[in-house]
Amino acid sequence: MINLARFMALTLPIYALTAVIPASAQSDYDAKFLSYPTYSGTDLELSVNPSSTDFRLWSPKADKAVVNLYDNGHTGKPYQTIDMKFDAANGTWSASVPGQLYGKFYTFRIFQDGKWRDETPGIWAKSVGVNGKRAAIIDFASTNPEGWDADKGPEVKNFSDVIVYEMHHRDMSMHPSSGIANKGKFLALTEAGTLSPEGLSTGIDHLKELGVTHVHILPSYDYNSVDEANLQMNTYNWGYDPQNYNAPEGSYSTNPSDPKARVREMKEMVKALHDAGIGVIMDVVYNHTAENEGSNFELTAPGYFHRHRNDGSWSDASGCGNETASDRKQMHDYIVNSVKYWADEYHIDGFRFDLMAIHDTETMNDVASELKKINPSIFVYGEGWTAGDSPLAVERRALKENVSKMKDIAVFSDDLRDAVKGHYTDARDRGFATGKPGNEETVKIGIVAATPHPQVDYKKGNNSKFPYAASPEMIVNYVSCHDDLTLTDKLRKSMEGEPEENMLAAAKLAQTIVFTSQGTPFMFAGEEVFRDKKGVHNSYKSPDSINAIDWSNKAKYADLFNYYKGLTALRKAHPAFRMTSAQDIARNLVFDKIDSKKEPNLISYSLKNHANGDEWKEIKVILNGNSTAKTVDVKKGDWKIVASDGKISPEGNLGSTKGGKLTVAPYSALILALEK
Ligand code: CA
Repeated sequence: MINLARFMALTLPIYALTAVIPASAQSDYDAKFLSYPTYSGTDLELSVNPSSTDFRLWSPKADKAVVNLYDNGHTGKPYQTIDMKFDAANGTWSASVPGQLYGKFYTFRIFQDGKWRDETPGIWAKSVGVNGKRAAIIDFASTNPEGWDADKGPEVKNFSDVIVYEMHHRDMSMHPSSGIANKGKFLALTEAGTLSPEGLSTGIDHLKELGVTHVHILPSYDYNSVDEANLQMNTYNWGYDPQNYNAPEGSYSTNPSDPKARVREMKEMVKALHDAGIGVIMDVVYNHTAENEGSNFELTAPGYFHRHRNDGSWSDASGCGNETASDRKQMHDYIVNSVKYWADEYHIDGFRFDLMAIHDTETMNDVASELKKINPSIFVYGEGWTAGDSPLAVERRALKENVSKMKDIAVFSDDLRDAVKGHYTDARDRGFATGKPGNEETVKIGIVAATPHPQVDYKKGNNSKFPYAASPEMIVNYVSCHDDLTLTDKLRKSMEGEPEENMLAAAKLAQTIVFTSQGTPFMFAGEEVFRDKKGVHNSYKSPDSINAIDWSNKAKYADLFNYYKGLTALRKAHPAFRMTSAQDIARNLVFDKIDSKKEPNLISYSLKNHANGDEWKEIKVILNGNSTAKTVDVKKGDWKIVASDGKISPEGNLGSTKGGKLTVAPYSALILALEK
């Protein structure tokens, strides 16, 4: 189910404060699931062996189970239906067929509580027919692009080195101005040399030029809402309505009816990005399913995979009609094994967990530690909140406030987001970067990545009231993402009546705060070319005319794009912005004393002591969110000017100053550097 609640689900940090919400507990209804036998083998559902094709379905309470074999991915009757045999010790049903059934399709069907359930491709279908109703049997080795064995994503030493670019396949390529042939497809990002009408790079070349290290792609597993058999309808959806978690979405392939095409083309995209030095992060939504009774979880093991209330009704921490139960062994293993599968088979470099706090911290810790064994560069982060109450005890939830209980997991900082641009629930609300006083301390919380800092008074924080991160590598800083208004739309609404040049200045300031803050910076695709969504805040199913990025903006807003390019280059060249421990930040990041009552919307701080091995001895960052210029006192020295009045030079070549009384332009950052 996708509705307004979905939008809430993605944005509202409700139930985030442990002090307010009492710890709830598993319902009596759900207690019975704990006694189910579980199966930890990795051969669930399908394995193709040298002389046989074997099926094993986990369904501990079924009275009968069959597997149906088909020649076709969506039409016709089964050519064979096989009764499966039960193993009570582990709750699985199995069947074996001689030979390798490549090219065939299958479904399972169980009989339980006196009735046959609907057919299901199971929960482990790794490729599927059109619209995902039948699982496909394919030879995965034959889907590998040339050079796949040697394919590898970028090495990540510290997660604060990552620069995330969040994108949707259609947003990037559907607009005619993209110059991309495979519009809305995985293959869009394999096309080199694509240009806007003004002759500027688009697609993968644009990403390289911008300098981001990773793309985070909105859901690319098989989701429910787009009819893959009618792609000419050009239906748009973000994809937060999971159907088959382990198969790629068909509408992003050039032929959804060919189960190999979606697999091969997704791998080709990954390889092209890796060849460009860019990592690929998958947006994963294990927290709920698109359907309740009709979900593949429910059709294979009724009740088990979701949480319920005492009266047996579906618990709904996702705001989408249900929530899954990571605290049960078979679901825990499912999530861990599923991300491992994507990392192994598709060489995925990171995972962004939607509504991560529906999952328990133990599951998330296992996710991170198991992925690390495959590739230590894999980056895992998520939304540290839920969209409603859950039977899972608050202290077990993978909440933002619980991030320090997790290892190698980061959470989004809604603190910085709302403080910089104004609250997301009120389009006209302004923030620090647009001149609204009272956000200074919360911006500082973002700057120090929510770690303990002697000069930050967490009690004055707008959202969180304590330093919840033990390390900057636990924090993702951002000012906008696919949810809510784009930064451009937010500025247009909240700064209505001011000239566009002020909005562009505020956009630069807002993003400067993200890119100079400790933690991992995250940006939404198209912000660098002042992309809007025509004021639509919840565009999850809006047409391409709302969602697609107009690449002619790149010429129109060339100055803004060049500034963003400067921000990525500055961050990459200077480890001082990428410290790796709370102790380093507390020692090296020093705020200048400014009384925000007398001098609001002004923050000044230094990164000292060649922080984190930086070649610069000291970097001064001064942020002025006011509509007027401000004067600040900077200590004497041979300062190089790195950024000033909407210009940026990562090398510090904008000129020099001896310090003293300096002017900071309205809505702008002044960044200075001392070499020695
Ligand atoms: Ca689909």
